[in-house]
Amino acid sequence: MNPNDTLAPCTLIQHFGESAPPEGAPSFPLFQNSNFLYSSHGEFVEAISNLSGHSPYIYSRIGNPTVDLLEQKIARLEGAEACRATAAGIAAITSVLMDAAEPGAHFIAEEFSYGSVRQLCTEVLSKMGVSLTLVDGRRVENILDAVRPETRLIYLESPSSLLFHLQDIRRVTSYARERGIRTVIDNTYCTPLLQRPIELGVDLVVHSCSKYLGGHSDLIGGAICGRREDIDRISRGQIHLWGNIMAPFPAWLVLRGLRTLGVRLRQHQEASLRIAEWLEQHPAVELVNHPALPSHPQRELFLSQMRGAGGLFSFVPKVQDECRLIEFVDSLRLFRKGISWGGFESLALLARVAPSWNPEGFWIIRLFVGLEDEEDLQRDLEQALERIRPT
Ligand SMILES: *Cc1c(COP(=O)(O)O)cnc(C)c1O
Repeated sequence: MNPNDTLAPCTLIQHFGESAPPEGAPSFPLFQNSNFLYSSHGEFVEAISNLSGHSPYIYSRIGNPTVDLLEQKIARLEGAEACRATAAGIAAITSVLMDAAEPGAHFIAEEFSYGSVRQLCTEVLSKMGVSLTLVDGRRVENILDAVRPETRLIYLESPSSLLFHLQDIRRVTSYARERGIRTVIDNTYCTPLLQRPIELGVDLVVHSCSKYLGGHSDLIGGAICGRREDIDRISRGQIHLWGNIMAPFPAWLVLRGLRTLGVRLRQHQEASLRIAEWLEQHPAVELVNHPALPSHPQRELFLSQMRGAGGLFSFVPKVQDECRLIEFVDSLRLFRKGISWGGFESLALLARVAPSWNPEGFWIIRLFVGLEDEEDLQRDLEQALERIRPT
């Protein structure tokens, strides 16, 4: 047995794949090169005829040692046979959807999955006759009832990143597997530390590394994990052909960010959960959507498929007046206004959602609890909430 098999994720993050960095350096080098050189025609021809694996290296669009190490680490953490790093999270999503697309194919997706899923299907893949059904994935029957003979793919995002609804991953995957339908999940919210979808039967896991995995708001990147056969096919047909690869420098930054993933997530979760519990009691707040709250309506599912939650959650304010809500977010000092969470900085986002079960829509405030002092953050919210206290 590989001795690495018994190691916990935070130990693997530090050591897996990093056997011998040169000169005793504690971190793996950044191979910031496009080309790899050979001293003879014979060696070069041999290398290029053996392009299936990553090594020997030829050209960084095909493989690069720094990117390779990141791919091996993410695969190991997800419990996947293989991983391919991509230029962005959105490139990972597009690649798995393109790979499953064929004339007349039908896809099903959780209605709150990342917006590019709907956009790619309705604006691009529809041209080849691919159709998409969006469902409220909280009820597993909604997903299963949407299945047709031509359904090729079920796309999950659990929890989703606006309302934090969960989908029952085990039930969806066991149903899909019996019918030969591929399952994909966006695991960006959880990272492999808080949810391991492959163990729950999912075929392909996609990530945005731009969020927690990188963790410092300084890079864009993505990843796809799954069986070697699937990853090799997607690499050849989608990643290499479109040039959707992750470059060495962002890969090196993700490797660095990963080192502290465990401690960061623990801090995000503890602080955000205390703030969420406090918000639940606040007179300005109608409802808090945080997957780790004991009051979350999918508590049992949370406990059965997740190992925790991070710092991202949302609440529905009682006041639903747009102007007052803008005043609320603008009077926050520490919570900055921005979209891309998972870094060190706390964020507040005012968003309007219109789900299938409430097409008229309503306002939510999405908060990301960063790495600042928790009490400072709570005081910041406290003063701003005065603006939307119901009269
Ligand atoms: C940010 C994000 C993406 C897209 O990733 P990029 O790296 O920005 O392309 C996909 N899914 C989720 C859940 C995200 O938060």
